[in-house]
Amino acid sequence: MFKRIAFLLLLAGGVSRADAATGDTIVAVWKHNTRGAFTMSFDDSMETHVSVAMPAIIQRGLVGTWFINPGLARHRKHSKVWGIDGPKNGQEYANHTWEHKGAKDYQEADYQIGASARYIWALRGPDASKLLAFASGGGTTWTISDLEREEIKSRYHSITRSSELSARTDLGIDGDKLIAKARESIDEGRWVAIHFHGIGGEWLSIDSEGFIRLLDYLRDNKDKIWSAGWSAAHQYAKERDHARIDLLERSDARIRIRLTTGLSPELYAEPLTLITQVPAGWSVVAVKQNGQSKPFHARNGALQYEVVPDRGEIELQPDR
Ligand SMILES: [Zn+2]
Repeated sequence: MFKRIAFLLLLAGGVSRADAATGDTIVAVWKHNTRGAFTMSFDDSMETHVSVAMPAIIQRGLVGTWFINPGLARHRKHSKVWGIDGPKNGQEYANHTWEHKGAKDYQEADYQIGASARYIWALRGPDASKLLAFASGGGTTWTISDLEREEIKSRYHSITRSSELSARTDLGIDGDKLIAKARESIDEGRWVAIHFHGIGGEWLSIDSEGFIRLLDYLRDNKDKIWSAGWSAAHQYAKERDHARIDLLERSDARIRIRLTTGLSPELYAEPLTLITQVPAGWSVVAVKQNGQSKPFHARNGALQYEVVPDRGEIELQPDR
């Protein structure tokens, strides 16, 4: 625990543990105070995503970012998996356009991007962010200007996806190389994003044994790597970098904090992990915000918890 806090304070430029006073609060660099974030994208609503990748990811408590094409027959064929199983298990969906075919004019481009965004928004809860990771689709042609495309993308709250590695066996990528990439997120304390097409079949595919080895590694290292959706990791980093913490009250009975970012609450809704120094006697602590209360456990005078910024005052009280 001490090592983790020391590492965190070093990165956050905060005060050292010995100088910490009740109410002192920092934002963890990554969610759950992990050391790095790792995003796996899956493009094209593929059959092997439904049959192999998503079940294996859900089974291990991980998160994939699924760049779906809801207008394609192969997507509609698995409407239960895409429409119910994925959202229910915390999977993130991203805009890969309605049918993966580009657009010949402005109106068609608006439909290809807009219909896909509306499909995904309808599957998210009312309090969820509207920010969607976006990739226009390899091999597609868009006969509209770049300016027009950017205008449409921004109307549907798109953030452009980037990727450090295309996980394909034909490019020499195997389980060892995938795990090495995940390890980079720990060693370098940063967000690493890679993308997949087929898993053990279909196009641009990776061998499924190597893929499963990566998932096992991520499952076994959950305390060090945050398996993050693309939009979620983007939101976290931006909220963290804009976070301002005001200590409103500190006593042995109560701590009150304000956490603000100045970002749009409609787009930035990812919980941040905060670590607050609390009185030594506190064990179970009720974290209250916006009329809701959740219990968290303090350890060695430090309370680690999750709250969404810009949603009102945060109040911490020992749960006696
Ligand atoms: Zn694609």
